[in-house]
Amino acid sequence: MPHKTFVTHLECSYSGETYEADRIHGLSREGKPLLVRYDLDALGAELDRATLSARSGGLWKYLEFLPVRRGENIISLGEELTPLVALPDLQVGPGRLLVKDEGRLPTGSFKARGLALAVSMAKELGIRSVAMPTNGNAGAALAAYASRAGIESWVFCPDDTPEINVRETALQGAKVWRVNGLINDCGRLVGEGRETMGWFDFSTLKEPYRIEGKKTMGLELAEQLGWELPDVILYPTGGGTGLIGMWKAFAELRELGWVSAKLPRMVAVQSTGCAPMVRAFEAGLEHAEPWEDAATVAAGIRVPGAVGDFLILRAVRESGGFAVAVSDESILAARDRAASESGFLMCPEGAATLAAYLQEVGGGRIRPDESAVLFNCATGLKYPMPGAEARLDCKAPLDIDTLQQA
Ligand SMILES: *Cc1c(COP(=O)(O)O)cnc(C)c1O
Repeated sequence: MPHKTFVTHLECSYSGETYEADRIHGLSREGKPLLVRYDLDALGAELDRATLSARSGGLWKYLEFLPVRRGENIISLGEELTPLVALPDLQVGPGRLLVKDEGRLPTGSFKARGLALAVSMAKELGIRSVAMPTNGNAGAALAAYASRAGIESWVFCPDDTPEINVRETALQGAKVWRVNGLINDCGRLVGEGRETMGWFDFSTLKEPYRIEGKKTMGLELAEQLGWELPDVILYPTGGGTGLIGMWKAFAELRELGWVSAKLPRMVAVQSTGCAPMVRAFEAGLEHAEPWEDAATVAAGIRVPGAVGDFLILRAVRESGGFAVAVSDESILAARDRAASESGFLMCPEGAATLAAYLQEVGGGRIRPDESAVLFNCATGLKYPMPGAEARLDCKAPLDIDTLQQA
């Protein structure tokens, strides 16, 4: 089905230099991410909030805000609107505490948003083979969307990536390799093999369209909340695509006049075992030094260095937010509380945002009357969980004493 598109060009996020749309691009000449720019005046003349709200479905309803030109290139696995779930038992003050549950998306994580767009654009631009380093969820989403698009995919992940991620990636048709290093080592391998193997490099932010997919989190959130954005957004930050993408969404919505000028404070949440953005934020730096010996239970945010570091830091600072690290113990404690007190199973990365909320709403950087949105980026079912070993012998009479001691 033909639809109107509004892409005008791409732009280097660092120098502002422009690049032609509808061509294959990786990073800019400066080695920085490229951002897609739209004719927002024309978009605003064509579309209004009511029309958009009358449409059903998930991220593809925001087609006018997206770069795909031809409907037949859209690769979809049934992306739905992800719910905002209240956590009233864990809310500290009168300000609402909501979680956007991204675990409901295809492949069980919000990587589906980014990869749905990136793979659709790869198809549109005629790319046949792609490769990426991943901590797990991105590889799984790439595998699924690429297989559906008939594009070959190669995935390289650290050898301690959650087992389920490696297997789902393989099952969904990617060639997946476990690497005895971290995600940046995997990224180096992709760079080394690119020319000989004929791969297009799908590393985070090294192609321009994953951000556009992640941007739909911001569009969706705004629409879901009646175009009234929350006071604070806490985002588990690895490569930062989602944080950068949401900030881009809010800028576009503000330019259209669809949301008020006051935007949410963006909080980048990391683990104390890998906190390059927090260190750079606190030191007042524009770029982050790579983190040595990165280690955390929250695999998705174990990213020692990010090409988009300056974009993450810029969004956090422009928004009046901050970057904060939480320990693995507090991440697991937050996961356990959300599950046992509120019946909400979070992934460790999502639980990191809850841990940060609980820490900061007590410590002062978030006021108890402020509304906060957390991101649960993947289904908690993908991750190792504490054991449950209680057993009963059905050959004997029911052991009431044992039951009552539980
Ligand atoms: C990738 C990932 C993140 C980090 O997302 P970025 O946008 O790359 O910073 C957080 N949580 C989970 C579960 C992930 O898979």
